[in-house]
Amino acid sequence: MNTDFREQYRREHIPARYRGGMHLMFTFGIGGALVVGAALQADGITPLEWLTVPLTFLYANLSEYWGHRGPMHHLKRGLRLVYERHTRQHHRFFTQDNMELDSLRDLRAVLFPPLLMTFFITAFMLPAALLLAWIATPNVAWLFVATSLAYFLNYEFLHMAYHLPPAHPIARSGLIRRLERLHRAHHDPRLMAHRNFNITYPICDLLFGTLQN
Ligand SMILES: [Zn+2]
Ligand SMILES: [Zn+2]
Repeated sequence: MNTDFREQYRREHIPARYRGGMHLMFTFGIGGALVVGAALQADGITPLEWLTVPLTFLYANLSEYWGHRGPMHHLKRGLRLVYERHTRQHHRFFTQDNMELDSLRDLRAVLFPPLLMTFFITAFMLPAALLLAWIATPNVAWLFVATSLAYFLNYEFLHMAYHLPPAHPIARSGLIRRLERLHRAHHDPRLMAHRNFNITYPICDLLFGTLQN
């Protein structure tokens, strides 16, 4: 069992002032408000503009796949923090036979830190949205922001659900149980750098032949 690592992680990486409930409220409260705010900005959307939603969904699935297959499992220059947090911490805190959080404080090892979430939004989403507003239309940019943020919240929700105790009402839903099996297989150290890189829906794992049931 990895109980020693868990204790060490809690000592070194979870500050005494950390509150899992506040982290949840920041992610889903602020994140959810931004999704609704962005969606409400779009007005008189044309059928062609609506295409932004499925295209952004597929783009997000591909980004999730390559981000996870690449820097999250392979040390890349400038992205050491991402590798450290994922391979060296998340995968050691949760192994395939010990996937559950012990308390809300352990959410620190699951959810993106608020600072990193803010950084990704300003460094990646904002420039892409401004570019879309310029080369396409403002509606396309707003739909892109709303869909990509909603995708991110869905990612955080599902990943948290996989690490809940199996008796938790969220973890008992059929879809979550099926997806959890894929993520549990990915938490096997022998498979983690080779299989099941999609954390939400295994579309790119199917496309690139890395799906393991
Ligand atoms: Zn995980
Ligand atoms: Zn991983």
